[in-house]
Amino acid sequence: MAAVHLDGKACAKALEAGLLERIKACSVQPHLAVIIVGDDPASHVYVTNKVKACQRLGIKSTHVELSSDVSEAELISLVEQMNNDNTLHGLLIQSPLPDHIDEEAITDLINPAKDVDGFHPANLGRLVQGRTDGMLPCTPSGVMEMLRWSGVELSGKKAVVVGRSRIVGMPQALLLAAKGADATVTIVHSRTADAKMECLTADVLVAAVGRPEMIKADWVKPGAVVIDVGINRVDDPTRERGWRLAGDVDPSVTEVASLLSPVPGGVGPMTIAMLLANTITAAERQH
Ligand code: NDP
Repeated sequence: MAAVHLDGKACAKALEAGLLERIKACSVQPHLAVIIVGDDPASHVYVTNKVKACQRLGIKSTHVELSSDVSEAELISLVEQMNNDNTLHGLLIQSPLPDHIDEEAITDLINPAKDVDGFHPANLGRLVQGRTDGMLPCTPSGVMEMLRWSGVELSGKKAVVVGRSRIVGMPQALLLAAKGADATVTIVHSRTADAKMECLTADVLVAAVGRPEMIKADWVKPGAVVIDVGINRVDDPTRERGWRLAGDVDPSVTEVASLLSPVPGGVGPMTIAMLLANTITAAERQH
């Protein structure tokens, strides 16, 4: 039997209804600044989607586009200026940055109270301490929200996260293992001896690896819940544009899993919803 689709769009819509109430109750209009450097087309699509989502909810957004040859010093100076601007509550710098800019060093400069991406060491450090009430990275917290919304019980379950990045995999593992979620977590990465065998043990499998359709049906325990974080462009001559979006999970997994999040329409909308939630939290806390 085919898996039930975990509908990220519907979950994001439900979450946004609650966010609208929080915006109404907030003493100030939340204000997000987004900086994008260079002309990577996918990054521009992500930023446009974030700005549109802000408009939909009545969050003010300021969108700054810088050319790919901007110097690190200029970017640092802009971040410092925005850190000190009391009318701005959230600040994010769209990844990736050009090679001549040290992305981690720039992230470290963002005021943690405005770090709506949740990537600052102070915010990730709180998560390591088990404090899940701070600025949490949007994609993994969106996955948690989606699991909660669809009634997936995590306590005592075996969760496997494929990927250990600072942005998705590692914070995902911490959130699944945190008190209250209480899953028992395994992290799979590129040096794992037998990734397939590890995945087969999962009641809940989160794929955040960036390899199109790597997780095959025979990697998945029958009845498992599978969350596909991956967003990959693969060539597809049958499409007019010559490519299609693919997740990290092979479509055949639908025959084995009980619940499966689609790509697109799964984790993507939840990532944006959690960014909006973090922006509102930042505004509430700064006022
Ligand atoms: P990274 O490239 O930063 O991390 C990938 C991780 O996968 C690494 O930890 C790497 O291991 C691991 N890995 C790579 N190859 C293998 C392999 N063969 N077997 C096991 N593990 C492997 O990617 P991100 O975490 O940033 O993103 C992951 C995916 O999620 C991408 O497709 C990205 O586009 C997507 N994404 C989607 C978002 C959304 O909103 N839906 C948001 C952010 C990302 P190692 O550490 O050993 O190198």
